[in-house]
Amino acid sequence: MNRPRDNIDVLTFGCRLNTYESEAMRDLAAKAGHGAGTILVNTCAVTAEAERQARQAIRKAARDNPGARILVTGCAAQINPEAWGALPGVARVIGNADKLKPEAWATDAPPAPVTNIMAATETAAHLVTDFAGRTRAFVQVQQGCDHRCTFCVIPYGRGPSRSVPIGAIVEQVRALVERGYREVVLTGVDITSYGPDLPGKPALGQMIRRLLAQVPELPRLRLSSLDPVEIDEDLWRLIAEETRLMPHLHLSLQHGADLILKRMKRRHLRADALAVAERARRLRPDIAFGADLIAGFPTETEEHFAETVALVEELDLAFLHVFPYSERPGTPAARMPQLPVPLRRERAARLREAGKAAAARFLAGRVGREEAVLFERADRGHTAQFAPLRLIGGVAAVPGEIRLVRVSAAGADTLLAEAA
Ligand code: SF4
Repeated sequence: MNRPRDNIDVLTFGCRLNTYESEAMRDLAAKAGHGAGTILVNTCAVTAEAERQARQAIRKAARDNPGARILVTGCAAQINPEAWGALPGVARVIGNADKLKPEAWATDAPPAPVTNIMAATETAAHLVTDFAGRTRAFVQVQQGCDHRCTFCVIPYGRGPSRSVPIGAIVEQVRALVERGYREVVLTGVDITSYGPDLPGKPALGQMIRRLLAQVPELPRLRLSSLDPVEIDEDLWRLIAEETRLMPHLHLSLQHGADLILKRMKRRHLRADALAVAERARRLRPDIAFGADLIAGFPTETEEHFAETVALVEELDLAFLHVFPYSERPGTPAARMPQLPVPLRRERAARLREAGKAAAARFLAGRVGREEAVLFERADRGHTAQFAPLRLIGGVAAVPGEIRLVRVSAAGADTLLAEAA
């Protein structure tokens, strides 16, 4: 449970977009007069496990805080409001289309049905100026998704793709920089879908170029997950030329075998992923990759799985988010022949091991180099490539400080540097 600011407890599950929205909702709830005894739960529907954890947390919160008003929102609640509304202690379910609207938080608002997210046409931007205890801030630039990957329920929780106007993004980032944030992460559901719903149809690259031009004081900009084949030419130029854009791309790859990628209804094939990585490395040799990967997708054979493991090695994917496939009700993949759950978990564990080996190789390659590190704590921070780093000895850092250090060694999952 996040540190209660404004006496409002916030439980956030899932993605960076949820993290951003939870801070915005905390502000809105406080301004609407919610206070002690209010528990806000921002749910996730990506896996059955994420839903189980949120239900468990709500039951515990109701048990430990008799009389508390539990307000539930997020993708799982959007998709199945009745079920979440029926949990103990839940006073209200607020839909994803309404969660950033001040009126949804009025303390005397009558219970209202969750609105149809598919009818959502705009993003309710909200100026967030504080990320509890964080030195890196998340900024929502896009919402929803128009794709229909066969395993995914997100479009049913978040609705169609909508973009935040550039002016609102600039205002948000400027406010965060004025508050001392040195790094901003642009987040959304499918940020490479940025722009077609805005005047002039600015693509993601154009938006970033204008943002960086209008906020020259921002030292570091990082991107959340990217659809590999939807990186636009402007963004490629920024990857090559813009030092404030961090040399770290997190790719939504999902799998390494073409047949499975087709059954997932992804927009890329294995060769595309290799070509994107090759191009990025040619333009920015020190670039690092992360990726989202699923193990145990329906009909996946040992040979298909081996192609995913090989992709981790071929691309040196240093930062992996591995998910054992989780069938989501109502998705096409849930109607395909399923693999046994233990096999999915076993393959996910093997994929994580391959990821650890790739991370260790990547970290070993940084020994002896000078790194600009954003410190989150006196002795811990992340490099531009997003490698974790720990200071050993010497002068402690100040959280939020960016300091140049020389890497003296690499552990299994972190770099080590002597403080000057
Ligand atoms: S791109 Fe695919 S995986 Fe990503 S949110 Fe959209 S439907 Fe889901």
